[in-house]
Amino acid sequence: MQPKHRVADVLNLEVDHLQKIAHTSWNERALHAIRKCRTKALGGRLDWCMNCKKLHLQFNSCRNRHCPTCQGHKQQQWIAARRRELLPVPYFHVVFTLPDTLNPVALRHPKELYRVLFDSVWETLCAFGNNPKHLGAKLGMIAVLHTWGQDLGLHPHLHCIAPKGGVSKAGFWKKGKGKDDFLFSVAAMSDKYRGCFVAKLRKALPHLPQSLYDDLFKHEWVVYSKPPFGRPEHVIEYLGRYTHKIAISNHRILTIDKENGTVTFSLKVYRKGGKKTTMALDTKEFIRRFQLHILPKGFTRIRHYGILSSSWKKEKLP
Ligand SMILES: [Zn+2]
Ligand SMILES: [Zn+2]
Repeated sequence: MQPKHRVADVLNLEVDHLQKIAHTSWNERALHAIRKCRTKALGGRLDWCMNCKKLHLQFNSCRNRHCPTCQGHKQQQWIAARRRELLPVPYFHVVFTLPDTLNPVALRHPKELYRVLFDSVWETLCAFGNNPKHLGAKLGMIAVLHTWGQDLGLHPHLHCIAPKGGVSKAGFWKKGKGKDDFLFSVAAMSDKYRGCFVAKLRKALPHLPQSLYDDLFKHEWVVYSKPPFGRPEHVIEYLGRYTHKIAISNHRILTIDKENGTVTFSLKVYRKGGKKTTMALDTKEFIRRFQLHILPKGFTRIRHYGILSSSWKKEKLP
């Protein structure tokens, strides 16, 4: 079903202010691309439709990966590739979050900060996986970066999907012991993750003030597990629905009030058990939040690790 409103409609209302609202010129370019998606500004082609015997004018898509209008297509190709790749074992789903103290760093140094997030999560999982007390095998993981919360605010977190087990040194499958939530204790992982993250951040961005680091150790870092996937098909279904998600889909926009310059959109409040509600924002504020989630040029948002990485598979399964 065609959405009633599009993020592009909001962008068009503030077309003269996009430069000011966007944090970087890269973000501004993305906003303009999304604004022009499937309009005559990007050109188009005429298609003769056999069914209705009419010529249809099709405008070109912007193909920006942050565009809510362009989603769908890429997603299908990606899912097909994953389907060939998954192991026939149960999978776990765990989410690693960052404390909001780091939000200013995420805005100024997104590339470095998000890389540290991916690396420290993988290092944490490996530390547990390689330890014979916990598993003693090489793990695999698919990690997907999300940077938003339901209110479109900055809330970076990594969704990790990992098979329940790993490959032993001798090359055999070793089943994980985890019962209901994850392979390893989420509380123990949280501590390890914080330590790994801070050590890597110091190396990546040595100029950050000590006060920031002091603050990072004051809070517990949130790691939580989501219901596990019983079968690989459920993983595919999940990945299909969530991995190519962007900050907001067009369908979530309920009204655009041009006169008062506000946008109302739907959201779920997870603290209240996923209760549905609505939120109204000034159009400029809506765009400011939307562009917080435009990733740096070429940044890979979905990564494969360990036994799920292509390099490992090439080496072991020639
Ligand atoms: Zn587009
Ligand atoms: Zn998420």
